[in-house]
Amino acid sequence: MSKRVAFVTGASRGIGRACAKALAEAGHRVVLAARAVDKLNEAAAELTAAGAETFVVAIDVGVKDSIAKAIDTAATQFGRIDILVNNAGVTKDGLAVRMKQADWELVLNTNLSGAFYAIQQVLQPMMRERWGRIINISSVVGEMGNPGQANYVASKAGLIGLTKSLAQEVGSRNITVNAVAPGFIETDMTHGLSEELKKKMLDSTPLRRMGTPDDIAHAVRFLASDEASFITGHVLDVNGGIYM
Ligand code: NAP
Repeated sequence: MSKRVAFVTGASRGIGRACAKALAEAGHRVVLAARAVDKLNEAAAELTAAGAETFVVAIDVGVKDSIAKAIDTAATQFGRIDILVNNAGVTKDGLAVRMKQADWELVLNTNLSGAFYAIQQVLQPMMRERWGRIINISSVVGEMGNPGQANYVASKAGLIGLTKSLAQEVGSRNITVNAVAPGFIETDMTHGLSEELKKKMLDSTPLRRMGTPDDIAHAVRFLASDEASFITGHVLDVNGGIYM
């Protein structure tokens, strides 16, 4: 069959960038989407130099129209989207008692509504093709909760519910929908955490290390593959054992 087309949100850095690379290495055509187009171009150039077919598109997943436009543009470029990786995400931490409405809404809009609208945008063509892979990047805290992150945790738990409901809706069309729940991964998102918190997390991680973006990307690449064709509605923990 012809090469598949993967659309990765938040591909400008961190886990999303690693997912774009892993999917390109698997032979897929890859659309790299995020707000920072300069960084996307840099990531895409690296993949193109290694022989991949890439396309860069600006997207703000917090804005529904931006999602529609970006996915339309990419689908026009490559003919269709076969694999959607909803990876873009933000944190805006604070205790619930003092959390501002804007901080709640920013995180829910970006992490959960953004994923939902992207899914809505790709779903009908995938149903027609009778093949599709949707992979939502959740988080270990979406499974176990975390004080100070009510907004983020709600968004990540929401992605798990979305994954399971959608898996049941579209399974008959040969579309699988899964989530990957990363533990503590070395990226910009965790860069600013205190040494004390990092030590505490590592002490409760059986594998005694932080994960790398590649650890997550390898799981995503597997779920996107034909080898994972009987897996749907699953939450794949990639967390060094911190939660099991
Ligand atoms: P990161 O390094 O901060 O990267 C976040 C990515 O999301 C960037 O590419 C950013 O691109 C993009 N993004 C943020 N807001 C966006 C928006 N409104 N529209 C489009 N793109 C947006 O974080 P990361 O650690 O790689 O995280 C990736 C995903 O993994 C997130 O969903 C995160 O919640 C999840 N996760 C991370 C960890 C961890 O320990 N790092 C653990 C569990 C889950 P631009 O700024 O260029 O738009």
